[in-house]
Amino acid sequence: MRITLLAGGIGGARFTRGLLHHVATSGLDADITVVVNTGDDIRMFGLQLCPDLDSIMYTLGGGISEERGWGREDETFTVMGELGKYGVEPTWFGLGDRDLATHIVRTQMLGAGYPLSAVTEALCARWQPGVTLLPMSDDRLETHVVVDGDEPGTRRALHFQEWWVRHRASLPALAFPLVGVDVAKPGPGVLEAISGADVVLLPPSNPVVSVGTILQVAGVRDALRATAAPVVGVSPIVGGAPVRGMADACLSAIGVDTTAEAVARHYGPRVAAVPVGADGGGILDGWLVDDATDSDVPGRLASTGIASRAVPLMMTDVVATAAICAAALALAEDLRR
Ligand code: GDP
Ligand code: CA
Repeated sequence: MRITLLAGGIGGARFTRGLLHHVATSGLDADITVVVNTGDDIRMFGLQLCPDLDSIMYTLGGGISEERGWGREDETFTVMGELGKYGVEPTWFGLGDRDLATHIVRTQMLGAGYPLSAVTEALCARWQPGVTLLPMSDDRLETHVVVDGDEPGTRRALHFQEWWVRHRASLPALAFPLVGVDVAKPGPGVLEAISGADVVLLPPSNPVVSVGTILQVAGVRDALRATAAPVVGVSPIVGGAPVRGMADACLSAIGVDTTAEAVARHYGPRVAAVPVGADGGGILDGWLVDDATDSDVPGRLASTGIASRAVPLMMTDVVATAAICAAALALAEDLRR
């Protein structure tokens, strides 16, 4: 079974780890490809950082800090401390000493002319994540955030990381332009992974700045709408709030309520026809919501053409996460029939 996921960092990583556990324990013969958001990528101290790719690679490779959810276990921050003593900015981004090695290797390879997809493959030779990790694009794409400027009536833009990490998403966002998207191409294998899949899963990743970013890459939405595979998503919103992080600040910026139902309607049903002259169209066949808090959602979505089920959605440990993955695959199987 060829399973393709469209993922951001922590939610994507934990879900994929659960999927691998489900595959191993059920004996399913699965070939898993994860298309990863690279809109979070940033150049810092001359190094190219890919936070979402690294979160997934470290999590599946056994090198993640479980406590923080990002970066390496047994980490020290000596280099950052020394940079701070020189007064070098930024000081708000946590960049550990072990983690730095990854960014140095990546930057060196990119500088030698290798595309990000090839660099990712090379890094994965060490970490052996058990899945194929594909950057959504080999081209440089950065999510920026438009906020109000200091002078009345003005606006300014900052990198997503500065908005998210430094300001903790506290500056009201007006828009999330994906800089470079007009010329970027999908990464090698990305569209094929969607069109050739038996199942496409959307992990509970941020609908705006993780999955929403991947959907903006040329051809991705069309590939999702055209694939013969069922497309099933898992809600990152449980009981009207993100389980972790600040996805509510992202959703409100694009006018979507922070509810499992509103996110499903925002993704939209694949069955709905696209009005002539309109862009896009829906991408979902199925949608899992949390049974403790959102058991009314499946009924409310019934008329949209999105088949929704309520199951426990907290990824408290690998076994609980594997059960979510099993439920997503079961819904996909029913939709295929
Ligand atoms: P990021 O790139 O590290 O921000 O991670 P993602 O975009 O992959 O995922 C972030 C989303 O995961 C957040 O919106 C959370 O609400 C969601 N999330 C985290 N833990 C859980 C969980 O246990 N269950 C569910 N349903 N969602 C979760
Ligand atoms: Ca991210």
